[in-house]
Amino acid sequence: VILYHHFAVHPCRFVDQLGIATPPDVFAAHLKWLSKRYDFVDLDAVLRGNLPKRPLLITFDDGYRSVLDIAAPMLKEHRAPGVFFLSERIIGDGAIPLDNLLSWLVNEHGLAKVESTVTRNPPRCTTLPEFFDQCIATMPYERRNALSAELASTLHLDLSALRRESGLYLRHDEVARLHDFGVEVGNHTRSHVHCRSLDSAAARVEIIEHKRFLEQLCGRPVRSFSFPYGSVADATITIDRALRESGHEAIFLVEARVNPRGHSGPYWHRVSMQAQPTSLLRRRIEVLPRLRSMRDGLRGRANVAARSWTMESGHAAA
Ligand SMILES: [Zn+2]
Repeated sequence: VILYHHFAVHPCRFVDQLGIATPPDVFAAHLKWLSKRYDFVDLDAVLRGNLPKRPLLITFDDGYRSVLDIAAPMLKEHRAPGVFFLSERIIGDGAIPLDNLLSWLVNEHGLAKVESTVTRNPPRCTTLPEFFDQCIATMPYERRNALSAELASTLHLDLSALRRESGLYLRHDEVARLHDFGVEVGNHTRSHVHCRSLDSAAARVEIIEHKRFLEQLCGRPVRSFSFPYGSVADATITIDRALRESGHEAIFLVEARVNPRGHSGPYWHRVSMQAQPTSLLRRRIEVLPRLRSMRDGLRGRANVAARSWTMESGHAAA
């Protein structure tokens, strides 16, 4: 299973610090290369376990409109289905999403100033993804949700104006159009949060209620979920239970590991793609994930994709 986020020739300042953009011509080359080596499958085939010899599912996260404008027509051309995991906070109106705000702020002020403004400590991170990992991932849910407003007040920003300026996101009324391109909608939490910070009340809002919201928007059942930032550290018992009880049938991580042959879910690994040349794709999609899974096995770290729904007594994170 592979993952893309956003398509642009030159990613703008709201995106360029996040490392998530793929140029359209690179995506076209990827699809051509992939179509010769894999059988594209949809979520139905994955859920039924009815998979061809070399199955590949293409997924997208977040809610960038470039997925509809640029990627979806190319997918249709190659008869490649997809799953697009959406967050209401990203596709809704209002403030610019936190990830894009931080990318823009790093361009304006530098990472050190952004980090010390948020943490009130001396800076130590060298990239924005590292800052997310070290400082944002473990932040309490309430502060995380208030962080954009806090930064806006400290740095005198208009979050709605920044959103309008970016022009980056899918609108509510465009979501149903994804189906015409064979793209199914999945759940990516309401606020695009690290799920380890959610208690069961917050998990209800972020996961269960958000699933219903997306189903109303796209007019179809939402059957799958992907963890924002993709880490297995976010697959806590609380989240596992909320996902199971709300009828999510496939759960996607981004740890670049192998999904064992014959595996039937519900947890699936994905490999994140950006602008790699096709000469490196086999290494990225197959070789390195296999090596990582082997290394995990030698270290006694269980492959989370081999896990079924968590037992109440166990911990969801492997
Ligand atoms: Zn995301």
